[in-house]
Amino acid sequence: MKYKSTRGGVRGLSFTEAFLMGLATDGGLIVPEKIPKLDLASLKNLDYKNLAFEIFKLFIDDIPYNDLKDLVYRSYSAFDTEEITPVVKKDGVYILELFHGPTFAFKDVALQFLGNLFEYVLKNRNTYVNVLGATSGDTGSAAIYGLKGKENVNIFILHPYGKVSKTQELQMATVEDKNVYNIAIKGTFDDCQAIVKAIFNDLGFKERYHLGAVNSINWARVLAQIVYYFYAYFKTQVGELYFSVPTGNFGDIFAGYMAKIMGLPIKKLILATNSNDILYRFVNYGDYSKGEVIKTISPSMDIQVASNFERYLYYLFDGNSNMVKDLMIRFSREGKLSFDETVLRKVGKDFVSFNSLEQSTKDTIKLFYERTGYILDPHTACGVYAAWQTGYGDIVCLATAHPAKFPESIFESIGIYPDIPEAIKVLETKEKRLSVLGNSAKEVKKFMEKVLLN
Ligand SMILES: *Cc1c(COP(=O)(O)O)cnc(C)c1O
Repeated sequence: MKYKSTRGGVRGLSFTEAFLMGLATDGGLIVPEKIPKLDLASLKNLDYKNLAFEIFKLFIDDIPYNDLKDLVYRSYSAFDTEEITPVVKKDGVYILELFHGPTFAFKDVALQFLGNLFEYVLKNRNTYVNVLGATSGDTGSAAIYGLKGKENVNIFILHPYGKVSKTQELQMATVEDKNVYNIAIKGTFDDCQAIVKAIFNDLGFKERYHLGAVNSINWARVLAQIVYYFYAYFKTQVGELYFSVPTGNFGDIFAGYMAKIMGLPIKKLILATNSNDILYRFVNYGDYSKGEVIKTISPSMDIQVASNFERYLYYLFDGNSNMVKDLMIRFSREGKLSFDETVLRKVGKDFVSFNSLEQSTKDTIKLFYERTGYILDPHTACGVYAAWQTGYGDIVCLATAHPAKFPESIFESIGIYPDIPEAIKVLETKEKRLSVLGNSAKEVKKFMEKVLLN
């Protein structure tokens, strides 16, 4: 399998090259040159790890199969259930629990694999990387747990000092491995992102220190997320399904779209947003225009520009790279795109979308709890709300985080706190390690140089 850029300037990449490149060098996103069709019958009795291995094999042909299998097995041994992503049925919907990894959010499913893959690929190439990223909470902890203790990799994660939840701070700062550096910036999440961007734009620094990224546009992350759509299909044993997906960067739901193209009988994908509704407006009105980011109780979806959206545009316009490039350039200049009825009809074949405003999200947590005794986290609740609006049957709702990550919002919705898993409780007894720095790229660079030259 070879890979190319959505903008047409890069092609013929191997999987490993695509993985290491992250963002394509022409500014586009990396996609497979063709999408394999799957034979469902041959997969239906596999456990999660073997299903992942069979799906990965179709997309990865430059890693020996024995090594790939070992990577998959090691990655999913860090989950607290053999099922990895169990499906439970509650109140007429299926809940696909994606929060059984070490940081209790779905990003673990991809980042555990990415961590092992990084180590493997870098060792083989006899090189190293310093991963640098910014987080508002979830991604940072999942990336740290994916990369901690790995050889040939250091990880530097910036978060806004005092502005992530207590659990998120504990998850990041109590990791003891020497290759993990938590940097708390006296500023906002946007400041952290701006610093990371400024450092990546310093090409001399980037080269000298082998900077790398693990952000949600990496193809390997999308690939890892395709697996659980298939897994859920086999578990539910329903002929044709809907999937409801709480969305921010269009990453997770894009993996579902890939699964559909690969032959999984998905009737439609239900795209759920919170008040940050650019994707909802796109699906319903053809209006893809950037607004101000609104802070909500589902913070991992507080995103205005969906970084994976370009991948979808590429397929929507039948692989027309010039068109994609023009659209993306226009969007970066004008902050908006609009699409006509013909395009909307095509989008509507695969997607419907609803936006859950704050009160709806809280009401959904409450109603669902009253009916079932099951506590949804606020992100998952946006998806369940959207599922309810459709009136469809046979819906799988992706549960993207464990409610214990957001105890305050749960308390506000139902008046009790969720049970806190042992693995989170023990963090409170551990020592925290983080470096507080001023809001400047210069300070962060100085810090990195000091620890790396040591
Ligand atoms: C990241 C995240 C999302 C959004 O996923 P995307 O792939 O960015 O669409 C939803 N819920 C939780 C809990 C997350 O951490």
